[in-house]
Amino acid sequence: MTSQIITIGIPGAAGRMGRMLIREIDAASDLKLVAATDRTGIDAIGEDSGLLAGTGSNGVIIGDDPTGLAIADVIIDFTSPSASVAHAGMASEHQCALVVGTTGLAETDEAALRAAADGTALVYCANTSVGVTLLGRLVEQVAAQLVEGWDIEILESHHHHKVDAPSGTALALGHAAARGRGVDLDDVADMVRKGQTGARRKGDIGFAVLRGGDVTGEHSVIFYGDSERVEISHRATDRAIFARGALRAARFAAAANPGFYNMEDVLAG
Ligand code: NAD
Repeated sequence: MTSQIITIGIPGAAGRMGRMLIREIDAASDLKLVAATDRTGIDAIGEDSGLLAGTGSNGVIIGDDPTGLAIADVIIDFTSPSASVAHAGMASEHQCALVVGTTGLAETDEAALRAAADGTALVYCANTSVGVTLLGRLVEQVAAQLVEGWDIEILESHHHHKVDAPSGTALALGHAAARGRGVDLDDVADMVRKGQTGARRKGDIGFAVLRGGDVTGEHSVIFYGDSERVEISHRATDRAIFARGALRAARFAAAANPGFYNMEDVLAG
């Protein structure tokens, strides 16, 4: 993993993020796509990944055997929770570094990623954009300052294809706010409001979710005070920001020792 060119494997190569990553890798002079996979049985298996992504033929054919990814220095995985867990085990066994951007992972899935990180460098991040990573830091600081008399609500919007809610980013922002307040998000999160909910509980962190159209990703953390309101927002207008952040994470992971890292580590590295 010390060569100047870092070789990359992309599972989920036919997906929205997979194709975006292939386009961004094609534009990067220090990265080379060497393997691409997707789920068994889908039409894209056997296709040229470059043609599918719109970069022109690159000779990397989309396969359905995940071990084919093991020839890469770094695997960048934006697929599904179960696939990401399987890829983490495989990456650890073959000592490929791994970047996981998949969202909607259960606690047990996250534990499996942590275990895999004993054997390889693994960056796990529900939002690979630089702006959102900074947003998390800001939210933690503001939540620590605005305590007594301030209510925190988190609002997120995404395109109609998204399958998990609230978004991984909204949850990460919730954790950041809870850290700032010195509490555990699980104790204060209010995810669903319907019917006779009663008044808002003091100290809760509320979540609201919108789904529609082609929204790339919008997050606001709103601090409601008495007669004033502080809002910290991020709006993504192009998915390329997530792909570029993931490539930055891949460069970091290629040079890192085995361990479990997040996007903060990548930006600091
Ligand atoms: P998508 O449905 O377009 O693509 C997912 C791809 O993974 C599909 O092609 C699917 O066939 C493939 N896949 C599923 N199981 C697989 C397996 N076992 N092996 C290989 N491929 C498999 O979804 P998307 O919009 O590209 O998003 C993918 C994931 O990335 C989601 O969890 C999404 O929330 C997350 N995401 C994260 C960020 C971030 O910044 N971290 C940004 C955007 C999306």
